[in-house]
Amino acid sequence: MSARRALITGITGQDGSYLAQHLLAQGYEVHGLFRAGEPNSGRIHRHEGELEDPSVVASVVADARPDECYHLAAQTFVPEEEFSTIRINVSGTLHVLEALRRGAPNCRLFFAGSSEMFGDVDVSPQDETTPLRPRNIYGVSKVAAYQLMRVYREQHGAFACCGYLYNHESPRRGPHFVTRKITQAAARIKLGKETELRLGNLDAIRDWGHARDYVRAMWLMLQQPTPDDYVVATGQGRTVRDFVEAAFNAVGLDWQKYVRVEPEFYRPTEKIPFIGCAAKAREKLSWVNELDFCMLVAEMVQHDLASEAAIAKY
Ligand code: NAP
Ligand code: GDP
Repeated sequence: MSARRALITGITGQDGSYLAQHLLAQGYEVHGLFRAGEPNSGRIHRHEGELEDPSVVASVVADARPDECYHLAAQTFVPEEEFSTIRINVSGTLHVLEALRRGAPNCRLFFAGSSEMFGDVDVSPQDETTPLRPRNIYGVSKVAAYQLMRVYREQHGAFACCGYLYNHESPRRGPHFVTRKITQAAARIKLGKETELRLGNLDAIRDWGHARDYVRAMWLMLQQPTPDDYVVATGQGRTVRDFVEAAFNAVGLDWQKYVRVEPEFYRPTEKIPFIGCAAKAREKLSWVNELDFCMLVAEMVQHDLASEAAIAKY
């Protein structure tokens, strides 16, 4: 029997790279759309191009002939520029949906949604029934893309699933996200390359999981008999301060000596925190998050210490 074929958009990103590893290990033929850089495995079929160009997406789908498509490419940093966020996240998703409808109608689609879709929440934890009331452009873009996905599912019979993904991190997380900013700074301060870390709101709460666990949930969604939407979260809220403390403890430093709070990094106050209830994913997908908060912080710090130490040698 020939290998199942998967197409990943955003394969150079954090989740794309872990998901590619997961699928390759299961014997999939993996195709990846990327716009710059290089996917991190030679075993990936590479398709270079911009999600914003519908003809590129259509021709990638025609070449890859996927059985499963994981649509992860997006403008992912909340404070990014508004117009490109809408173009990439909303129009880009429409390009994927339409390319699959025309070129691979039996392909199953995973869409990477976000806790930011719930936005201005009045309950915690949130679940699949929580109203969608986004509070920033990124959240709006994800809700709009999700509504497009729902229309293709309900009107065109697409097998399409949305994961309401809560924050998930790893050593591959982009450096402007707070967790990576903290672990890189802890490593650099430990090695004497920096003397302080400037942050915004230390009381902000997030439900942080590990990306390796979350890509497994994406895959499980597409193995079910029917398409559905699932919250993917740990259910545990931690403050930015908790993360800082754990990261500095991991390198044997007292964080209070190095961290400075700066209004520049503050965002509008969040009254009720994003904490997700993943009971449905646990029950229907038998999904469990195996890597806890302490393991996550330790892995990120160890990685950053090793890479900062290696840079110091040159
Ligand atoms: P990431 O590391 O920022 O990766 C985003 C990927 O999208 C990169 O490969 C990027 O390519 C690609 N991309 C962006 N614009 C593109 C364009 N115009 N054309 C083609 N590719 C483009 O994000 P991630 O953490 O892996 O997240 C994966 C998905 O999950 C995203 O949709 C994100 O919104 C969603 N999500 C993530 C989290 C989280 O905590 N990580 C939480 C909720 C939802 P370049 O390498 O060229 O920039
Ligand atoms: P987000 O949840 O996708 O916005 O992920 P981030 O890692 O960018 O931010 C997580 C939380 O950390 C938010 O509530 C931020 O307000 C808070 N935060 C506090 N200081 C910083 C900082 O210096 N940088 C970032 N990115 N976030 C910070």
